[in-house]
Formats: sequence, structure tokens, C-alpha cells
Amino acid sequence: MTETTFTPRVFSGIQPSGNLHLGNYLGALKRFADAQNNGIESIYCMVDLHAITVWQNPEDLRRATRELCAGFIASGIDPEKSILINQSQVPEHAQLAWIFNCVARMGWMQRMTQWKDKAGKNQQNASLGLLAYPSLMAADILIYHATHVPVGEDQKQHMELTRDIAAKFNHDYGVDFFPLTEPVIEGAATRVMSLRDGSKKMSKSDPSDASRINMTDDADTIAKKIRKAKTDPEPLPDNTDALEERPEARNLVNIYAALADTTVEQVIADHAGQNFATFKPLLADLAVAKLAPIAGEMSRLMGEQDEIDRILSRGAERARAITAPILRKTYDIVGMVGPVEG
Ligand code: ATP
Ligand code: MG
Repeated sequence: MTETTFTPRVFSGIQPSGNLHLGNYLGALKRFADAQNNGIESIYCMVDLHAITVWQNPEDLRRATRELCAGFIASGIDPEKSILINQSQVPEHAQLAWIFNCVARMGWMQRMTQWKDKAGKNQQNASLGLLAYPSLMAADILIYHATHVPVGEDQKQHMELTRDIAAKFNHDYGVDFFPLTEPVIEGAATRVMSLRDGSKKMSKSDPSDASRINMTDDADTIAKKIRKAKTDPEPLPDNTDALEERPEARNLVNIYAALADTTVEQVIADHAGQNFATFKPLLADLAVAKLAPIAGEMSRLMGEQDEIDRILSRGAERARAITAPILRKTYDIVGMVGPVEG
């Protein structure tokens, strides 16, 4: 991790928009769990306020938020070691986001590829929240003075914007108050691709269920989706360069490496020359071996809703001990009248 003058602190979030998938696991959850014993204070968040930038059925949202919490815990994140929260239970996120809405510029938001992708052709009809999304994301991170954010590659542009907002705030008010946060994009699977189209990332919001492996899929479904995954007719090559022009093959090799906790080079060394009729069943067995226990634990935890709600309340309480003083100080810097102690 890169050094900054701020105390190292990690923040990352996932939207409770349903369909938690293998990309979320390898690009985010597994990495959070792996980093858990590095001694750095870490906050992990279910970002429900982000989820409603596109309409969510209220009952589905409630369920998806609790299921995501179960997913964090089942993936190995210990709610005692880390702070596990639901965004709307820590109101300082949204309060700081308003300040940042007044710092960020329209042009910055309109340039975001996620805005363009998700708003599509009908931008006039997209929610204002969808446009403002990156400003809330900056607030999620900076309300903790987080220095490092582990994310998938798709979040790189939002992370640059977070730095731009911090820098403009610091400059406009003549302070060195918000850190310039570093994204941490590491490992073999920082961009897991759709199983149906090697040029698109695996997404919760992809209408095709066959495009992704959901963390709650059973063993048969996982095996079937991998068997049907788009590939090319060539066997696996004996060097990684030869994967450059083969996005679907590269994706399956990356997934294998990340699931097996090894490198792409090692997977190539072990499987060179195999065709997909051989490699896919091996990948399916590995995916089932890693994901089935997590799915089982998620389903067990979903039967203990009170326990999940208690964990989230406790997380919010711990989080607010950090966020409330940072918000008070921000209001003071901006010139708002009020008690500023703390
Ligand atoms: P949506 O389609 O609703 O935006 P999503 O699948 O992109 O959902 P998010 O909640 O937006 O999921 O992202 C949560 C985390 O998972 C982020 O850190 C993001 O970078 C990571 N992530 C999402 N998709 C992938 C992927 N295909 N490969 C690796 N990481 C991913
Ligand atoms: Mg996303």
C-alpha cells in the first residue's frame, strides 16, 4: 500500500442490488477477507443509497441488503475485526455527499462511463441520483478519511473523481483535510468478464442470468453455466501473452487463478495444451468447492435476520464514532454555524 500522511484506513462498498456474483467475490469480498489480518482499520458497507439510483422494489431491497450482509460474513469478513455497515444507517455519508455535490462540477459527472452506460440513450429520464452517484461514493470514502479502497477495475474512474473532489475541497477552503485516496486494484480477477460476452464485465444488473455465477447458485447451476460459457476452439496456450487476443479464454484462466489463490502463470504452466472440454469441468469443480460453503453459510445466516440486524446496528454505532466528528469538522470548515467540538 502507498504511504500517505493520513492514518491508513480502508473503506469499500457493494450495492445491495441482488445477484451477488463471482466478480463481486473475487474483485471485492475475497480480497477484503484476505486483507483482514493486516491490522488496518477497515469499514465495509452495503451501499443501499446507491442501489436506489435505479428503482428497487422495497421488499427486494430489504432482503438484498440482509443477504449482502450475510455474503460479507460468509466470505470471511469478521464483523468484530472490521466495521460492517449499511450506508443509510450512517447518515453522515449522505450529509457529506451534499457538500460534495456543491464541490463537484456537472461536467465531471457527465463524463463518467458508468453514468453513460447505466443512463443509456435516455439520459433525460435517468434519476438525478444516478448522475450524482460518484459524489456520494466520494463521501462514503472520505467521511472516514479512508486512505485505501480495494475495488474492481471498473471503479478506477470513480476513484479518480474521489481524488478530484478531495483536492478541490482542500484547495477551495485552503485546508489539507481530506486525503487523496488510493484505489487498490490487485490480483488475478480485478475484472471478471461476463460468461456470455468476453468484452463485458460480469454484473449484477446484466439481464442474462447465464452471464454470471451468482454466489447463491447451486453446484449444478454453476457447472452448467461454466460448461456453457463462451470460449474459442483452441486449447489453452503455454504462455500468458497468447491469451491477450482471447478474452473468453483469459477470463476463465483468471477466474481459475483467483479461486485457486495462485497466479495466471501457474495455471498456464499446469494446464497448457488442455482443451476446454477438460479445463471447464476442473474449473467448475474448483468453483463449487469454493462457493458452495459460502452459499450454505449465507443461507444459514439469512435464517437469523435478528442477528444480521444487530450486527448492522452495532456496525453503525462504531462507524458514527468516526464519521460524526469528521462531518462536524467539515461543516466548520465550510462555515456552518453549530457546535464543532469533537
Ligand atoms: P451493478 O451492475 O448493479 O453496478 P456490480 O456487479 O457492478 O453491480 P457493484 O456493487 O457495483 O457490483 O460493485 C461492488 C464491488 O464489486 C466493486 O468493488 C466492484 O469494482 C466489484 N466488481 C463488480 N463487478 C466486478 C467484476 N466483474 N469483476 C471484478 N470486480 C467487480
Ligand atoms: Mg457496479
